[in-house]
Amino acid sequence: MRNIIVNILLIITVTGLIGAEDGIRCKYCGCELVPLDQEKTGIEFDEGNICTYPKCQAAYIDGVWYTKEDWNSVVEKALKGKAKIIENEIEKQVKINQEIRRENRIRELIQKYNWTRKRTERIIEGFIYIGDTKEIVREAWGVPKSISRTITGYGTYEQWVYGLGYYVYFENGKVTGIQD
Ligand SMILES: [Zn+2]
Repeated sequence: MRNIIVNILLIITVTGLIGAEDGIRCKYCGCELVPLDQEKTGIEFDEGNICTYPKCQAAYIDGVWYTKEDWNSVVEKALKGKAKIIENEIEKQVKINQEIRRENRIRELIQKYNWTRKRTERIIEGFIYIGDTKEIVREAWGVPKSISRTITGYGTYEQWVYGLGYYVYFENGKVTGIQD
């Protein structure tokens, strides 16, 4: 009999505790709390509730109380952190894509002209030197805006005109001068 009473008391106590848990009210204003949508916060928590009184909007997150202002600044920081992570991911992906495009171009040029890798790399970086061929200049700087050609008894002279006052001079197909 005494055991039954103890058991009943225990059941009542446990039920009472659960009831109390359900009825948590705002520490600041006494209003009802409603569950907080975790998705919108950028923060992971097990249990978060927010006060329904518009002027209060205190938050109760995993057993810690925050005023509206405190909680907003916590959320703001978390969202900024998340944005930064996404930004970094995009930056990383852009770099990877650039690297892939560069590698593809190097391979293409090596296959087309049979250049060494070292030469190909300096060409796609836009470096041209005296003695370079027309192909090299075209791959390094692109197609010129215009070409003026002079043919004499000594050979063929060309002036390739690029924008912004850049010129390349050729004598019999080899670079003899670069003006920039
Ligand atoms: Zn409140």
